[in-house]
Amino acid sequence: AQATVFDFAELLEQTRRLVQPEAVEADVTIIADLPNLPPVRANRIQIAQVLVNLIRNAIEAMSGAHSPTRRVIISAEGQDEFIQVTVEDTGPGIDPGINLFSQFETTKPAGMGLGLSICRSMIEANDGELHLDRDYTGGARFRFTLRRAPVAE
Ligand code: ADP
Ligand code: MG
Repeated sequence: AQATVFDFAELLEQTRRLVQPEAVEADVTIIADLPNLPPVRANRIQIAQVLVNLIRNAIEAMSGAHSPTRRVIISAEGQDEFIQVTVEDTGPGIDPGINLFSQFETTKPAGMGLGLSICRSMIEANDGELHLDRDYTGGARFRFTLRRAPVAE
């Protein structure tokens, strides 16, 4: 993976602009709630793709009648050597019968079921982890980590 040093907030803003038309179409509000973060070191394109996949899944999950409130909230916090990013939505949550991160697992008529397994392998290729927060009941909540750029001395 070709890693560069970049500002996560800036990447998120670019990504948000990219998916904004789909969000508007589905009446979904995307909220980015980020503190000041140190730069990260990762493959920027892969991280953008992960964000797009997670946000698209959230939008798709909230497109049904059961989601009167339609929000995707992206937040992040800096930790020792990494930054933890949270992507959560106000949709129906995860179907308990689904093996989320496995390939070809989908509940969508035209779904391929590749999005999350690709997301996970891209995060792992960048030395991070991607998980579903199973304790969250307000919708679906995913968390992934990114490596902070090493501090130059
Ligand atoms: P696809 O989007 O093609 O179905 P994914 O790997 O992206 O494949 O997602 C797999 C399945 O996980 C989806 O079909 C859906 O059932 C579930 N899922 C993923 N994200 C969400 C979400 N935000 N809310 C509810 N279910 C989700
Ligand atoms: Mg998907």
